[in-house]
Amino acid sequence: MPKSSFVDFKAIKAAITMEQVLEHYGLIDQFKKVGDSLSGPCPIHKGSNPTQFRVSVSKNIWNCFSECKHGGNTLDFITRMENVSIHAAAMKAIEWFSLDPGAISANSEQEAEGPNEPEKKKEAPRAKATAKPAPASENGAPNKPLKFRLDKLERDHPYLAARDLTPETIMEFGIGYCAKGMMAERIAIPIQNPEGNVVAYVGRWPEENAEDIPKYKLPPGFRKSLELFNIDRAIKEPADKPLIIVEGFFDCMKLHQHAYRKVVALMGSTMSAAQEELVRKHTDRKSQVIVMLDEDEAGRAGREDIVVRLAKFVFVRVHTFEVEGRQPENLNAEEVAALFI
Ligand SMILES: [Zn+2]
Repeated sequence: MPKSSFVDFKAIKAAITMEQVLEHYGLIDQFKKVGDSLSGPCPIHKGSNPTQFRVSVSKNIWNCFSECKHGGNTLDFITRMENVSIHAAAMKAIEWFSLDPGAISANSEQEAEGPNEPEKKKEAPRAKATAKPAPASENGAPNKPLKFRLDKLERDHPYLAARDLTPETIMEFGIGYCAKGMMAERIAIPIQNPEGNVVAYVGRWPEENAEDIPKYKLPPGFRKSLELFNIDRAIKEPADKPLIIVEGFFDCMKLHQHAYRKVVALMGSTMSAAQEELVRKHTDRKSQVIVMLDEDEAGRAGREDIVVRLAKFVFVRVHTFEVEGRQPENLNAEEVAALFI
């Protein structure tokens, strides 16, 4: 990093949230959220009292009410945690959250918030905080592209091998085991919008039949009903090729691995209105769609509804499996190839 580089502290503060910073340090799980405030043990003096360190989620400021008696904004926090200058903290934030320094300085003039004004009553104009993952998705608002990447994912986790994913597929989809942070101990799966921007990481628990642990964890504020998994890759395929619609991430990745790349996943067995709109937007009257949901009760119910809705604007075919419980993930390469003969 060149020492002389210009860094706009205000713009960086506006682009990241305290929640993201805590997540970066793998600390978010130790914090309890009540209303607008997060409280937990102070990570700076490494205290154990679970209420002495408090964060205002909307204002992105923090305070330690015990030993350090410090407080401040996101950059002040990184400064303390890393024991570095504010300039060095800003450079770290740029790197960790993949911030674009160019875009950041361009936005900075609109950032009217003064430094360290925790008691400001008026809603600070944080509108330029494009990195804020939540609560970005009020009704109608799209999921916003993330400004950070989980880049330390373990690609060779046994769970991925057990599901027969090759290293090429794992790399292409950017999935991997996440050791810390919000998706800790889960397989993180990036969800991309049609433009290819990552809008969320979803976490898959890497075991089957874990009874009281939810299979998938979604980040707060993310609305999966607005996305189709893999749409960014699928729409690059030839227009005359049928679009396959499946339920799950792994169905989708397996078909892709078996060289059928025009496939999207609903992330469930129903199709939302927004997902229908996405299909409509990326097809025309001559397009073909193949609905290939799981062969179970939910899958059969889902596909009936989906076919009726899609048939209004594309040619729709249904793929059924002869054996109960079968799903697209179970198809081998030959079976996938045979689908289109
Ligand atoms: Zn402290």
